[in-house]
Amino acid sequence: QKAEWEKLKNEATVSKDGKHFELASNIGTPDDMDGVLDAGSEAVGLFRSEFLYMNSAELPDEDTQFEAYKKVVEGMNGKPVIVRTMDIGGDKHLPYLPLPDEMNPFLGYRAIRISLDRDDIFRTQLRALLRASHYGQLRIMFPMIATLDEFRKAKAIFEEEKAKLVADGTPVADDIKLGIMIEIPAAAILADQFAKEVDFFSIGTNDLIQYSFAADRGNEHVSYLYQPYNPSLLRLIKHVIDAAHANGRIAGMCGEVAGDQVAVPLLMGLGLDEFSMSSTSVLKTRSLMKTIDTTEMAKLADRAINECVTNEEVKELVEKNVFGN
Ligand code: PEP
Ligand code: MG
Repeated sequence: QKAEWEKLKNEATVSKDGKHFELASNIGTPDDMDGVLDAGSEAVGLFRSEFLYMNSAELPDEDTQFEAYKKVVEGMNGKPVIVRTMDIGGDKHLPYLPLPDEMNPFLGYRAIRISLDRDDIFRTQLRALLRASHYGQLRIMFPMIATLDEFRKAKAIFEEEKAKLVADGTPVADDIKLGIMIEIPAAAILADQFAKEVDFFSIGTNDLIQYSFAADRGNEHVSYLYQPYNPSLLRLIKHVIDAAHANGRIAGMCGEVAGDQVAVPLLMGLGLDEFSMSSTSVLKTRSLMKTIDTTEMAKLADRAINECVTNEEVKELVEKNVFGN
Protein backbone atom coordinates (compact mmCIF):
# COMPACT_ATOMS: atom_id res chain seq x y z
CA GLN A 1 0.00 0.00 0.00
CA LYS A 2 2.84 2.36 0.91
CA ALA A 3 4.36 1.79 -2.53
CA GLU A 4 1.03 2.69 -4.14
CA TRP A 5 0.86 5.90 -2.12
CA GLU A 6 4.44 6.81 -3.11
CA LYS A 7 3.33 7.04 -6.74
CA LEU A 8 0.98 9.87 -5.82
CA LYS A 9 3.80 12.02 -4.52
CA ASN A 10 3.94 14.36 -7.49
CA GLU A 11 0.26 14.27 -8.33
CA ALA A 12 -2.30 16.95 -7.58
CA THR A 13 -5.05 16.01 -5.14
CA VAL A 14 -8.15 15.43 -7.23
CA SER A 15 -11.39 13.68 -6.34
CA LYS A 16 -12.93 10.97 -8.51
CA ASP A 17 -15.13 13.60 -10.15
CA GLY A 18 -12.22 15.94 -10.87
CA LYS A 19 -12.46 18.46 -8.06
CA HIS A 20 -9.16 19.79 -6.73
CA PHE A 21 -8.41 19.99 -3.02
CA GLU A 22 -5.29 21.42 -1.44
CA LEU A 23 -3.46 18.88 0.68
CA ALA A 24 -1.05 20.51 3.09
CA SER A 25 1.30 19.72 5.96
CA ASN A 26 1.43 20.86 9.56
CA ILE A 27 4.95 21.62 10.80
CA GLY A 28 6.59 22.77 14.01
CA THR A 29 10.11 23.70 12.92
CA PRO A 30 11.98 24.31 9.65
CA ASP A 31 13.55 20.84 10.09
CA ASP A 32 10.14 19.35 9.32
CA MET A 33 10.46 20.54 5.71
CA ASP A 34 12.07 17.25 4.63
CA GLY A 35 8.88 15.44 5.56
CA VAL A 36 6.76 18.01 3.74
CA LEU A 37 8.71 17.62 0.49
CA ASP A 38 8.82 13.81 0.84
CA ALA A 39 5.05 13.72 1.15
CA GLY A 40 4.52 15.92 -1.91
CA SER A 41 2.42 18.36 0.09
CA GLU A 42 0.89 21.21 -1.89
CA ALA A 43 1.35 23.71 0.93
CA VAL A 44 2.28 24.21 4.53
CA GLY A 45 -1.13 24.73 6.07
CA LEU A 46 0.08 25.30 9.60
CA PHE A 47 3.52 26.27 10.85
CA ARG A 48 3.14 26.22 14.64
CA SER A 49 5.58 29.06 15.26
CA GLU A 50 5.47 28.64 19.04
CA PHE A 51 8.03 25.83 18.67
CA LEU A 52 10.60 28.46 17.69
CA TYR A 53 9.94 30.05 21.06
CA MET A 54 9.83 26.76 22.96
CA ASN A 55 13.13 25.54 21.50
CA SER A 56 14.92 28.69 22.58
CA ALA A 57 16.38 29.83 25.92
CA GLU A 58 15.11 33.36 25.41
CA LEU A 59 12.68 35.21 23.17
CA PRO A 60 13.91 34.52 19.62
CA ASP A 61 15.01 37.80 18.04
CA GLU A 62 13.79 39.16 14.71
CA ASP A 63 16.71 37.84 12.64
CA THR A 64 16.49 34.33 14.12
CA GLN A 65 12.80 34.19 13.31
CA PHE A 66 13.31 35.70 9.87
CA GLU A 67 15.82 32.95 8.98
CA ALA A 68 13.42 30.22 10.13
CA TYR A 69 10.43 31.59 8.19
CA LYS A 70 12.54 32.27 5.11
CA LYS A 71 13.84 28.71 5.11
CA VAL A 72 10.31 27.29 5.09
CA VAL A 73 8.98 29.75 2.52
CA GLU A 74 11.92 29.15 0.19
CA GLY A 75 11.69 25.40 0.73
CA MET A 76 8.15 25.45 -0.63
CA ASN A 77 9.29 27.10 -3.81
CA GLY A 78 6.37 29.44 -4.36
CA LYS A 79 3.71 27.20 -2.83
CA PRO A 80 1.71 28.68 0.07
CA VAL A 81 3.01 28.66 3.63
CA ILE A 82 0.67 29.58 6.47
CA VAL A 83 2.56 30.68 9.56
CA ARG A 84 0.49 30.88 12.71
CA THR A 85 1.64 33.55 15.13
CA MET A 86 2.76 32.46 18.59
CA ASP A 87 0.25 30.18 20.31
CA ILE A 88 1.72 30.06 23.81
CA GLY A 89 -0.31 29.40 26.94
CA GLY A 90 -2.77 26.60 27.61
CA ASP A 91 -0.42 23.64 27.95
CA LYS A 92 2.54 25.34 26.22
CA HIS A 93 4.89 27.36 28.40
CA LEU A 94 8.07 29.37 28.00
CA PRO A 95 10.54 29.31 30.90
CA TYR A 96 11.59 32.88 30.14
CA LEU A 97 8.06 34.29 29.84
CA PRO A 98 6.28 33.70 33.14
CA LEU A 99 2.53 33.43 32.69
CA PRO A 100 0.00 33.99 35.47
CA ASP A 101 -1.02 30.99 37.53
CA GLU A 102 -4.53 30.28 36.31
CA MET A 103 -7.43 28.05 37.32
CA ASN A 104 -8.25 27.35 33.66
CA PRO A 105 -5.23 27.94 31.44
CA PHE A 106 -7.06 26.77 28.31
CA LEU A 107 -9.60 29.53 28.94
CA GLY A 108 -6.96 32.00 29.97
CA TYR A 109 -4.10 34.14 28.86
CA ARG A 110 -2.86 32.52 25.67
CA ALA A 111 -2.13 32.93 21.96
CA ILE A 112 -3.46 36.13 20.37
CA ARG A 113 -4.48 37.35 23.84
CA ILE A 114 -0.81 37.44 24.84
CA SER A 115 0.26 38.86 21.47
CA LEU A 116 -2.16 41.79 21.72
CA ASP A 117 -1.14 42.45 25.33
CA ARG A 118 2.61 42.06 24.74
CA ASP A 119 2.71 43.78 21.38
CA ASP A 120 6.51 44.14 21.67
CA ILE A 121 6.77 40.35 21.18
CA PHE A 122 4.07 40.38 18.51
CA ARG A 123 5.68 43.20 16.50
CA THR A 124 9.02 41.39 16.42
CA GLN A 125 7.33 38.30 15.06
CA LEU A 126 5.35 40.24 12.45
CA ARG A 127 8.45 42.06 11.24
CA ALA A 128 10.29 38.76 10.81
CA LEU A 129 7.30 37.38 8.89
CA LEU A 130 6.99 40.47 6.72
CA ARG A 131 10.66 40.27 5.78
CA ALA A 132 10.32 36.56 4.95
CA SER A 133 7.27 37.25 2.76
CA HIS A 134 9.58 38.52 0.05
CA TYR A 135 10.92 34.99 -0.54
CA GLY A 136 7.73 33.13 -1.46
CA GLN A 137 4.02 32.90 -0.76
CA LEU A 138 3.66 33.56 2.93
CA ARG A 139 0.32 33.83 4.70
CA ILE A 140 -0.19 34.82 8.32
CA MET A 141 -2.75 33.30 10.66
CA PHE A 142 -3.82 34.39 14.12
CA PRO A 143 -4.64 31.73 16.74
CA MET A 144 -7.52 31.72 19.26
CA ILE A 145 -9.46 34.59 17.74
CA ALA A 146 -12.78 34.98 19.58
CA THR A 147 -13.94 38.40 18.40
CA LEU A 148 -13.69 40.58 15.32
CA ASP A 149 -12.08 43.30 17.46
CA GLU A 150 -9.14 41.02 18.16
CA PHE A 151 -8.65 40.39 14.47
CA ARG A 152 -8.89 44.10 13.66
CA LYS A 153 -6.32 44.96 16.35
CA ALA A 154 -3.92 42.28 15.13
CA LYS A 155 -4.36 43.45 11.55
CA ALA A 156 -3.77 47.10 12.52
CA ILE A 157 -0.47 46.18 14.21
CA PHE A 158 0.49 44.16 11.13
CA GLU A 159 -0.25 47.16 8.89
CA GLU A 160 1.82 49.46 11.11
CA GLU A 161 4.87 47.21 11.00
CA LYS A 162 4.44 46.72 7.28
CA ALA A 163 4.34 50.47 6.69
CA LYS A 164 7.53 50.94 8.74
CA LEU A 165 9.41 48.29 6.78
CA VAL A 166 8.22 49.69 3.47
CA ALA A 167 9.31 53.19 4.54
CA ASP A 168 12.76 51.77 5.34
CA GLY A 169 12.99 50.29 1.86
CA THR A 170 12.81 46.67 3.08
CA PRO A 171 11.25 44.41 0.43
CA VAL A 172 7.98 42.86 1.56
CA ALA A 173 5.25 41.12 -0.43
CA ASP A 174 2.27 43.39 -0.88
CA ASP A 175 -0.37 40.66 -1.09
CA ILE A 176 0.08 38.83 2.23
CA LYS A 177 -3.17 37.12 3.14
CA LEU A 178 -4.26 37.38 6.77
CA GLY A 179 -6.34 34.55 8.20
CA ILE A 180 -7.61 33.22 11.48
CA MET A 181 -7.90 29.91 13.20
CA ILE A 182 -11.52 29.00 13.75
CA GLU A 183 -11.19 27.16 17.03
CA ILE A 184 -13.46 29.11 19.38
CA PRO A 185 -17.22 28.58 18.94
CA ALA A 186 -17.92 32.34 19.12
CA ALA A 187 -15.83 32.89 15.99
CA ALA A 188 -17.30 29.85 14.23
CA ILE A 189 -20.83 31.11 14.83
CA LEU A 190 -19.98 34.59 13.56
CA ALA A 191 -18.00 33.27 10.58
CA ASP A 192 -20.29 35.06 8.10
CA GLN A 193 -19.23 38.42 9.56
CA PHE A 194 -15.56 37.44 9.92
CA ALA A 195 -15.50 36.36 6.28
CA LYS A 196 -16.05 39.95 5.14
CA GLU A 197 -12.71 41.02 6.65
CA VAL A 198 -10.57 37.92 6.98
CA ASP A 199 -8.83 36.44 3.92
CA PHE A 200 -9.04 32.79 4.96
CA PHE A 201 -10.15 30.45 7.71
CA SER A 202 -8.43 27.39 9.07
CA ILE A 203 -10.60 25.31 11.35
CA GLY A 204 -8.68 24.06 14.38
CA THR A 205 -10.71 21.06 15.41
CA ASN A 206 -8.50 20.13 18.37
CA ASP A 207 -9.57 23.25 20.21
CA LEU A 208 -12.94 23.67 18.50
CA ILE A 209 -14.01 20.26 19.83
CA GLN A 210 -12.57 21.02 23.26
CA TYR A 211 -14.51 24.27 23.53
CA SER A 212 -17.70 23.04 21.85
CA PHE A 213 -18.05 20.02 24.12
CA ALA A 214 -16.53 21.77 27.16
CA ALA A 215 -14.05 18.93 27.56
CA ASP A 216 -10.34 19.49 28.24
CA ARG A 217 -8.49 17.98 25.26
CA GLY A 218 -5.83 16.48 27.54
CA ASN A 219 -8.11 15.03 30.22
CA GLU A 220 -8.56 11.27 29.80
CA HIS A 221 -11.63 11.24 32.08
CA VAL A 222 -13.61 13.19 29.49
CA SER A 223 -11.95 11.89 26.35
CA TYR A 224 -15.21 10.25 25.25
CA LEU A 225 -16.35 13.78 24.43
CA TYR A 226 -13.78 14.05 21.67
CA GLN A 227 -16.47 13.51 19.01
CA PRO A 228 -15.16 14.56 15.60
CA TYR A 229 -18.22 13.25 13.73
CA ASN A 230 -20.89 14.56 16.07
CA PRO A 231 -23.54 16.30 13.92
CA SER A 232 -23.31 19.29 16.24
CA LEU A 233 -19.68 19.81 15.23
CA LEU A 234 -20.43 19.05 11.58
CA ARG A 235 -23.12 21.73 11.54
CA LEU A 236 -20.68 24.26 12.93
CA ILE A 237 -18.06 23.28 10.35
CA LYS A 238 -20.61 23.50 7.53
CA HIS A 239 -21.61 26.97 8.69
CA VAL A 240 -17.96 28.10 8.61
CA ILE A 241 -17.32 26.66 5.13
CA ASP A 242 -20.53 28.15 3.70
CA ALA A 243 -19.73 31.56 5.23
CA ALA A 244 -16.25 31.51 3.70
CA HIS A 245 -17.57 30.58 0.26
CA ALA A 246 -20.39 33.13 0.32
CA ASN A 247 -17.66 35.76 0.61
CA GLY A 248 -15.21 34.23 -1.86
CA ARG A 249 -12.85 33.03 0.89
CA ILE A 250 -10.99 29.80 1.36
CA ALA A 251 -11.92 27.43 4.17
CA GLY A 252 -9.25 25.05 5.39
CA MET A 253 -8.73 22.81 8.36
CA CYS A 254 -5.55 22.10 10.30
CA GLY A 255 -6.77 20.16 13.33
CA GLU A 256 -6.47 16.37 13.62
CA VAL A 257 -9.85 15.87 11.95
CA ALA A 258 -8.43 17.10 8.61
CA GLY A 259 -6.48 13.85 8.29
CA ASP A 260 -9.13 11.55 9.78
CA GLN A 261 -10.10 8.97 7.17
CA VAL A 262 -13.76 8.90 8.20
CA ALA A 263 -14.07 12.69 8.33
CA VAL A 264 -12.24 13.44 5.07
CA PRO A 265 -15.02 12.22 2.73
CA LEU A 266 -17.62 14.20 4.68
CA LEU A 267 -15.46 17.33 4.61
CA MET A 268 -15.04 16.93 0.85
CA GLY A 269 -18.82 16.76 0.60
CA LEU A 270 -19.10 19.94 2.65
CA GLY A 271 -16.69 21.67 0.26
CA LEU A 272 -13.69 22.21 2.53
CA ASP A 273 -10.94 23.61 0.28
CA GLU A 274 -7.75 22.82 2.13
CA PHE A 275 -6.77 19.92 4.39
CA SER A 276 -3.65 20.32 6.51
CA MET A 277 -2.25 17.43 8.51
CA SER A 278 0.86 15.63 9.65
CA SER A 279 3.09 14.96 6.61
CA THR A 280 2.90 11.23 7.33
CA SER A 281 -0.84 11.28 6.55
CA VAL A 282 -0.68 13.23 3.29
CA LEU A 283 -0.21 10.45 0.71
CA LYS A 284 -2.68 8.13 2.41
CA THR A 285 -5.26 10.93 2.32
CA ARG A 286 -4.51 11.79 -1.31
CA SER A 287 -5.08 8.17 -2.18
CA LEU A 288 -8.43 8.15 -0.37
CA MET A 289 -9.53 11.44 -1.93
CA LYS A 290 -9.02 10.09 -5.44
CA THR A 291 -11.74 7.51 -4.80
CA ILE A 292 -14.33 9.99 -3.55
CA ASP A 293 -17.17 11.46 -5.61
CA THR A 294 -17.97 14.87 -4.15
CA THR A 295 -21.59 15.00 -5.37
CA GLU A 296 -22.32 11.72 -3.63
CA MET A 297 -20.49 12.94 -0.54
CA ALA A 298 -22.48 16.17 -0.45
CA LYS A 299 -25.61 14.01 -0.13
CA LEU A 300 -24.02 11.83 2.52
CA ALA A 301 -22.85 14.86 4.52
CA ASP A 302 -26.37 16.22 4.33
CA ARG A 303 -27.69 12.98 5.81
CA ALA A 304 -25.01 13.01 8.50
CA ILE A 305 -25.98 16.52 9.50
CA ASN A 306 -29.75 16.25 9.29
CA GLU A 307 -30.59 12.62 10.02
CA CYS A 308 -27.87 11.36 12.36
CA VAL A 309 -27.89 12.41 15.98
CA THR A 310 -24.73 10.86 17.44
CA ASN A 311 -21.03 10.60 16.68
CA GLU A 312 -21.38 6.83 16.31
CA GLU A 313 -24.27 7.07 13.83
CA VAL A 314 -22.26 9.32 11.55
CA LYS A 315 -19.25 7.07 11.77
CA GLU A 316 -21.36 4.05 10.81
CA LEU A 317 -23.01 5.97 7.96
CA VAL A 318 -19.61 6.75 6.43
CA GLU A 319 -18.15 3.32 7.06
CA LYS A 320 -21.12 1.67 5.37
CA ASN A 321 -21.44 4.03 2.41
CA VAL A 322 -17.83 4.90 1.70
CA PHE A 323 -15.79 1.98 2.92
CA GLY A 324 -18.46 -0.71 2.46
CA ASN A 325 -18.27 -2.17 5.95
C1 PEP B 1 -6.26 23.08 16.73
O1 PEP B 1 -6.61 23.62 17.79
O2 PEP B 1 -6.98 22.29 16.10
C2 PEP B 1 -4.94 23.35 16.16
C3 PEP B 1 -4.61 22.96 14.95
O3 PEP B 1 -4.04 24.01 16.94
P1 PEP B 1 -3.25 23.35 18.14
O4 PEP B 1 -3.45 21.86 18.07
O5 PEP B 1 -1.83 23.76 17.96
O6 PEP B 1 -3.91 23.97 19.32
MG1 MG C 1 -5.52 25.26 18.70
